[in-house]
Amino acid sequence: MAEILIVEDNAANMRLACLLLTNAGHSVICATDAETGLTLARERKPELILMDIQLPGMDGLAATSILKRDAHTAAIPVIALTAMAMKEDAEKIRLAGCNAYIVKPLRYKELYRVINTLLENNLPQQPLV
Ligand code: MN
Repeated sequence: MAEILIVEDNAANMRLACLLLTNAGHSVICATDAETGLTLARERKPELILMDIQLPGMDGLAATSILKRDAHTAAIPVIALTAMAMKEDAEKIRLAGCNAYIVKPLRYKELYRVINTLLENNLPQQPLV
């Protein structure tokens, strides 16, 4: 179970993401714009971030680039949420530093699979016994 930051400006998408994550036992922090998301990421150091790409003002790719250039937040996995599915968009998402992306609408099996993979990859080293 993890603390997960969701940055999403669409209320229906936010409700769905919150529901799916809390149903899986995660705790959720919400932001509806990139600036608030950046502040919460720095303050709370969530274990994972779901980042909508299309946001009012700063977009999700710019916000992810900032997070990935900051040593305090660079290690937090970022999953881009996108309505775009074209090849060049996947490349932009990768270049911004996102660890994965999901094409909306959210489907719970895919969301859980991607989240679980990223959380497992990000586990701290086991202590030596
Ligand atoms: Mn949006």
